[in-house]
Amino acid sequence: ASSATEKFIASAEAHSAHNYHPLPIVVASAEGAWMTDVEGRRYLDMLAGYSALNFGHGNRRLIEAAKAQLDRVTLTSRAFHHDRFAEFCTRLAELCGKEMVLPMNTGAEAVETAVKTARKWGYRVKGVPDGRAKIVVAAENFHGRTTTIVSFSTDEEARADFGPYTPGFEIVPYGDLAALRAAVTNETVAVLLEPIQGEAGVLVPPAGYLAGVRELTRERGVLFMADEIQSGLGRTGRTFACEHEGVVPDVYLLGKALGGGVVPVSAVVADADVLGVFKPGEHGSTFGGNPLACAVGLEVVDMLSTGEFQQRATELGDHLHAELSLLTGAGKVTEVRGRGLWAGVDIAPSHGTGREVSEKLMERGVLVKDTHGATIRIAPPLVISKEDLDWGLDQLRAVLS
Ligand code: PLP
Repeated sequence: ASSATEKFIASAEAHSAHNYHPLPIVVASAEGAWMTDVEGRRYLDMLAGYSALNFGHGNRRLIEAAKAQLDRVTLTSRAFHHDRFAEFCTRLAELCGKEMVLPMNTGAEAVETAVKTARKWGYRVKGVPDGRAKIVVAAENFHGRTTTIVSFSTDEEARADFGPYTPGFEIVPYGDLAALRAAVTNETVAVLLEPIQGEAGVLVPPAGYLAGVRELTRERGVLFMADEIQSGLGRTGRTFACEHEGVVPDVYLLGKALGGGVVPVSAVVADADVLGVFKPGEHGSTFGGNPLACAVGLEVVDMLSTGEFQQRATELGDHLHAELSLLTGAGKVTEVRGRGLWAGVDIAPSHGTGREVSEKLMERGVLVKDTHGATIRIAPPLVISKEDLDWGLDQLRAVLS
């Protein structure tokens, strides 16, 4: 007889598209930094839903906020106002130091919204000739999966066979200011970047890069749009990864943790001279800014306002990186990158692929995800205890010994 896990996986394989290759674990419940599978085995979650679970599984404050809202009203559409909308937008704008919020649901929708914002701003404010707007992006980017977004991906797996592609994007090497400077023309409306490239393997740009991008975009009258969907909201030890260079972009793109791991909530946040370009009928979403999303999102903003999660990410992150650097010293990993409670760890080829290490960690009760062959990504919930983090690192050391 096959196990419950095998049965679940076989029927998922039979009846769902194979657009993912998950680790062979079937989760049944979770709390804090721990997940329990259908066999009753426990696992330490060191991925946290790609940072959507910064506040942990089943976070009481978030669950209570969601439950209270479930009993009142969950959806109105934007055809009507509802009583959670204004406060969420006001408080999120405040957290970002900006004036306006445009709420959507998924990260990709926030990116699409930012692309539309930049183009419209370009035509209506900057005066770019119609149809000529250009957005400069970085190689190895990950901004989502829509047809327009994959049009400016450099990852063939993400892009091949999905054309014809949306024009209007130019790709420059990440971290290369000279290349960016050369690419920006009078028709450039925006530079769209991840302040740390997550999917690429947690690539931190060279010191001074983000500050240089800020200076260049300001000089040239171009919007600096920071995709903080994965890097933002506490993960790196600051509310935004841009803060590490004292940089304030024109536009923040937020998602993942904004929904507290409970509901999909994303947003584009900017000042009125940018987001003010939209008029009724020009953009929208049935679910964007719904009451449940606003109730949870508001609680997330409240939790981030105290700075305690950022502080925790800094302290635990320093510890994580100190421990990981010992592995580099021992030749078990070739490179460790990252900031705060976020690390991309390149496994030495002699110690297996990223996938092999992920599978061995799973057998020891630790969940991480591989990327680009050799890399594993470590991004536990910010609520993880130091003891659990140390236990997870013990398992990594054991796998690599
Ligand atoms: N932007 C960044 C930086 C991301 O890391 C992701 C998801 O991994 C996205 C956008 C897309 O978000 P979603 O999967 O919610 O569409």
